[in-house]
Amino acid sequence: MTIQWFPGHMTKARRQIEEKLKLIDVVIELLDARIPLSSRNPMVDEILKGKPRLVLLNKNDLADPQVTAEWVKYFAEQGLPALPIDAANGTHVKEILPRVKQLWAHKIETMLRKGINPRAIRALIVGIPNVGKSTLINQLAGKKIAATGDKPGVTKGQQWIKVGTEMDLLDTPGILWPKFEDQMVGMRLAATGAIKEELLHLDDVALFTIKYMVQHYGAGIQERFGVQELPEDMENIQEMVKVMEAIGRKRGAIVSGGKVDLDKASLIIIRDLRAGKMGRISLERPF
Ligand code: GDP
Repeated sequence: MTIQWFPGHMTKARRQIEEKLKLIDVVIELLDARIPLSSRNPMVDEILKGKPRLVLLNKNDLADPQVTAEWVKYFAEQGLPALPIDAANGTHVKEILPRVKQLWAHKIETMLRKGINPRAIRALIVGIPNVGKSTLINQLAGKKIAATGDKPGVTKGQQWIKVGTEMDLLDTPGILWPKFEDQMVGMRLAATGAIKEELLHLDDVALFTIKYMVQHYGAGIQERFGVQELPEDMENIQEMVKVMEAIGRKRGAIVSGGKVDLDKASLIIIRDLRAGKMGRISLERPF
């Protein structure tokens, strides 16, 4: 289920995170590696109020590794350590604890100096819906505890999950809302499946995707779909539709009379993209 965010929901979500922040030492901010800024809550700095933070670029199995490396640099320049992971397969998940420990090392040193036995670091995962919070919690816990997907009806008492002996993780993540104001952000969220494509026009989302791919992954499109010539003018919608038609034809989205069914082609393009069938594609760059 995709949450429809209204001002009341945002206020409630913010209050819930603020309550959780009182209990924790370090925040793990989960972003989608394919669209790190578009999958980021616009008020996150204000909400987290300077808590030590590790950024995780999730679903990196679907993202362009070169672009992800640039994002890691981008966040480092902002003073935020960032680690690309793939929560679904557990890739790099083992590196999270050492990174969290680095963020908390100064506190542990102070405690040791005072002769206090350091307790486990308390961490909270935050992120927008569908970014992979529950999947990551399950990976870190080493078993299935968090319900994947958004199930607002399912509430339980706050519990801690032991991640080894050195980290305790809150079992319910902090749910943040995405940005809405910018239409391009909406397109990126819809293309990657963070928001329901029905919230926008499917063909607009597919067209946005194709435009971006022609611009940044042209060779892949030509090779995969046998498209002879790619449009040079990115604003030429007619030419872009021709690319969509070529893809639709190749993927069998044909109606009687041999015409391409553009709605069906749009759906195929978006499904292929989300499933990684178009290759590893990032839809946002840090420049
Ligand atoms: P939440 O709403 O943030 O808790 O997100 P979920 O954990 O329910 O994940 C949303 C969807 O993304 C699910 O279908 C997951 O299987 C999928 N997912 C989560 N992490 C990854 C990942 O690293 N790679 C891929 N390809 N899919 C992922």
